[in-house]
Amino acid sequence: MAALFVSSLTACGGQGGDQGDGEQEDSGGGPVKVVATYSILGDLVENVGGEEIELTTLVGADSDAHTFEPAPADNAKLAEAAVVFENGLEFETWLDELYESSGSEAERVAVTRDIDPLAAPEEEHGEEEGHEGEEEHGEADPHAWHDVSRAMVMVEAVRDALVEADPDNAEAYRANAKEYLSELEELDAEVTERAESVPEENRVLFTSHDTFGYFAERYGFEVDTALASVSTEASDPSAGETAALIREIEAAGVPAIFTENVSNSDLMSRVASEASVDLAPTLYTDALGKPDSEGGTYVKMMRYNASTVADALSG
Ligand code: ZN
Repeated sequence: MAALFVSSLTACGGQGGDQGDGEQEDSGGGPVKVVATYSILGDLVENVGGEEIELTTLVGADSDAHTFEPAPADNAKLAEAAVVFENGLEFETWLDELYESSGSEAERVAVTRDIDPLAAPEEEHGEEEGHEGEEEHGEADPHAWHDVSRAMVMVEAVRDALVEADPDNAEAYRANAKEYLSELEELDAEVTERAESVPEENRVLFTSHDTFGYFAERYGFEVDTALASVSTEASDPSAGETAALIREIEAAGVPAIFTENVSNSDLMSRVASEASVDLAPTLYTDALGKPDSEGGTYVKMMRYNASTVADALSG
């Protein structure tokens, strides 16, 4: 129980003086234990934390954070952590309860705290929890990472939280973050360039689960939410609804519609074929792909999404 020494030893004072609850940091001088709630955020955290942290990600590759059900082992992960990184904006509706039941004293850091959020799309999230029930999700759209410039603000939040939690390694966190942020700046330019290659009249995204609000705002697309009713989070649309969808896609005149890696695409595929448009290769939305896939990291995922969208809509 010999805690509370860590923060007072830093030369630059000020930092963490009132941090007080530093018990987790004193676990034998090993890397600081950190939890990230979902895979995309885990990748951002890992790029900043590097070898100084021991990272556990709760919702893994190709898994849906919206419908995640924590297992007993997740309690232990939270209980051991010094810092828990979460997206915030009510993306992780299960986290409050898990955090509380774990007895964790970890610092919770909502990495979107400094971004300017967009309003949530209307037909999103939580519908599977009871259609008539009160809306579970917040008023803000949580999918901020699809705008690389906002992801950069998230990375800065990660950096600042790690510096505060583990001031001994502040220099490493700052250096890692600096390098990663410059990589993201290039990525943002690259995505912008791919987006600009799409003919303007084709810059419409029909997707099954409405995650592309930030992408659309940053890179100049329009999101058509008609297909949200085909999302696996909702029940299957009726024949009449499906026919209306098909007419809407035809009227838009786009060459392709999109599906994502955390949902079932059978119905989307049927709708695409009936509307005589392509179903583009699956986009990565709320989770990374498996490590060796084209969506294995945040940078790869964004690059893949941008070129998939550009290729599909230029056709
Ligand atoms: Zn989502």
